Formats: sequence, structure tokens, C-alpha cells
Amino acid sequence: MDERTNGLTTWIEVSEAALRHNLGIFRSLVQPSTRLLAVVKANAYGHGLELVARACAAEGVEMLGVHGADEVRDLRRAGITTPVLLMGFLTGRQVETVVDPGVEVLVSTLEVLDALAAHAARLGQQLGVHLKIDTGTHRQGVAPGEARRLAQAALDRGLRVAGLATHFANIEDTTDHTFAYRQLARFCEALESVRTVAPGVVAHAACSAAALLFRETDFGMVRLGISLYGHWPSRETYLSWLLAHGRDGVKLEPALRWRARVGQVKDVAAGEPIGYGLTFRPTRLTRLAVLPIGYADGYPRALSNRARVLLHGRPAPVIGRVCMDIVMVDVTDVPGVAVGDVATLIGRDGTEQVTVEELAELAGTINYEILARLSPLVPRLPFEG
Ligand SMILES: *Cc1c(COP(=O)(O)O)cnc(C)c1O
Repeated sequence: MDERTNGLTTWIEVSEAALRHNLGIFRSLVQPSTRLLAVVKANAYGHGLELVARACAAEGVEMLGVHGADEVRDLRRAGITTPVLLMGFLTGRQVETVVDPGVEVLVSTLEVLDALAAHAARLGQQLGVHLKIDTGTHRQGVAPGEARRLAQAALDRGLRVAGLATHFANIEDTTDHTFAYRQLARFCEALESVRTVAPGVVAHAACSAAALLFRETDFGMVRLGISLYGHWPSRETYLSWLLAHGRDGVKLEPALRWRARVGQVKDVAAGEPIGYGLTFRPTRLTRLAVLPIGYADGYPRALSNRARVLLHGRPAPVIGRVCMDIVMVDVTDVPGVAVGDVATLIGRDGTEQVTVEELAELAGTINYEILARLSPLVPRLPFEG
């Protein structure tokens, strides 16, 4: 801990070394000509947009992927000039306010092409677009058979067709990759037809799981989210890796730790109820520590009476309900806990570690959701190591 945390009751530490390490893994996995796009939507999966974008830019990441217009604005305000791929829906007004030649929009509709063309004319500059092909996820995008028409529509409007993209529906949830290969075949068809009108188009299909498992999805660029932050997309993805490679090779490093200071320590008699709903009654005299974080900060209420935090390198179980801003933990077996001590909600303390995956499992969700819902109000501190 350093002096930056003196005035804080809770904070999130982000290891730039871990981000660099994880990027390095992907640089060595993909083809030398394949570019890396760092997906920094959802406040960089909870790690802090500006901090992560800056670290990625310093590592020479070729592109940043965001969901919406606000994120583009935040990046530009922070002085980050790395090219951006805007992947989500955007209104005509948002096109006017955030798109410049450094922002390429992932397009699925003629409406957005029209708005971009009008904006390019106003700017007097050419804008690049990426076309989204729906190869079976049935989310955003046009059917592979429509790809060439959409490309031609972009060209007719004076736009540059910079990229062609698709997204896989079923890599993370299974070790059977039949559906992914079907999507890949459809994408290759679309790519071939679009190349007849836009030969320079950069194709990209891979998310973290595909970039870990399938070299045939490298194309010109890969879009890295969860694994850039040091997490396997799922147990099935990890299992697929093991089936193909054995234990060697990839050691992703989680980049985030979440800490909070103990606000109060108190003893509660056996049989006394703890917290809202009186859901926990200790069977012994219990020392509890009160922590100043709760579900408003992104610590799921589903962790009530289930999770553990670390204090002095030892586990302290969460007891009673997780409140909006407060959590109670049992420190009866952790000697010497005092007000101001630092508890670890996510990450390592000594030889013990609470992983995002452990919390996700206990809360009935996935690591992505735990990370993405960490409140942006909790300060993010970059640190080395
Ligand atoms: C979020 C997202 C990604 C990143 O997925 P991960 O599984 O986190 O690597 C890639 N592509 C698109 C279109 C996305 O929305």
C-alpha cells in the first residue's frame, strides 16, 4: 500500500505490468501481421477506461474498442489519440458530436451509413466504417448475403470500408466448437464477396476465447476483452485450451485488486442476529469487522452469507446481508484486526487469494459481470507489480 490510499476508504488497484503481460501473450499467439484491438467498454471491464487505454496505447495496441459515444468523448478528453472502433448503436446526433477520422464505426444499418456520410460531408473529410456481419449470433449485423450490398452502399456514400467484423455466439459456453466453425465459414463467404468491392478491408472476428483457441480466426485484427484483463472467458475455454495444449503456455495474470478499509470492529454475542433480515446468528461470541462497501459499489448482494474477504492474509467470511454501502465480515479467527486495516475483496493478500471467478460462482453469474459492475465511483490506482 502506498500514500495514495491514505485518504481512501476503498479503491481498486490495477496492475499495468499484468496488462502488459497479457497483451504480450496475445502478441505471441496471433500472426505477426494481426493487429490487437483492446476492448475497453464498460469502464475497461471495471479497470478504469483512461488508465487501461493509456497503458494499451503505450504498448502499441493498434485500436481501442468501445460501446458508445460517451466513451469516445472520455478518451478524447483524456488526450488519448489511439484509433477507436465504436461497436454499439449510436444516434445521428451522436455521430455529429463524436465521430472524427480517428473513430471508425461498426455499422449494421443504412441509417447510420447515411448519418456518417452527411457528417463526413460537413467535416470535408473521409470517414472509415467497419461492417458487422451476423453469422449466427442474431444480434447486431447484416446477413452474410447482404454484406456486399452494405459495402457498396458505404462506398456509394463516399465512406471508406475499413473493416469487416463478426462475433461468435458459442465459444465460451462449450468445448464443442461446431457452431463457431459454421459462423467462421459464413464470415469467410461474406469476406470474399466484400473484397470484390473493397479489397483493402481488415477482417476481424475473434474475441478473447477465439484468440486463445483458434488461429484460423486471427485475420487482420483480434478484439480482446476479458483475457486482456487476465481472465479466462470461461472454464470451458480453459478446458479447450488444456485439451489442445496441455498445461503449458498461457498464464494470464488478473490485473485488478479491490481493497477497503475496516470502519469498525465489534463483538456480538452468540445468538444475536446480524444485518437486515436477521439472516445470520453466530453460535459463538463473534468479532466482526464492518467494511464501507456494498452492492452500490458492485459487491453483489447475492454474496450475502457466502463470500469471504481477506484480512491480514486470512479469510474472513461475509456474514449477514450485503447492504448498499456496508458489508460485515467475521474476524473472530483473525487476530488483531483494527479500524483502518485493509481488507481485500478481490485479489491476493499474502498466500490467500479471492478470485473474480470465485465471487462470480457464488453470486450465480460470470466473471465479466462482476468486473463490469464495479462502480466507476471507486478510485482506480495504477500500480506496478
Ligand atoms: C465485448 C466484445 C468483445 C470482447 O469479448 P471478450 O470475450 O471479453 O474478449 C469482442 N467483440 C465485441 C463485438 C464485443 O462486444
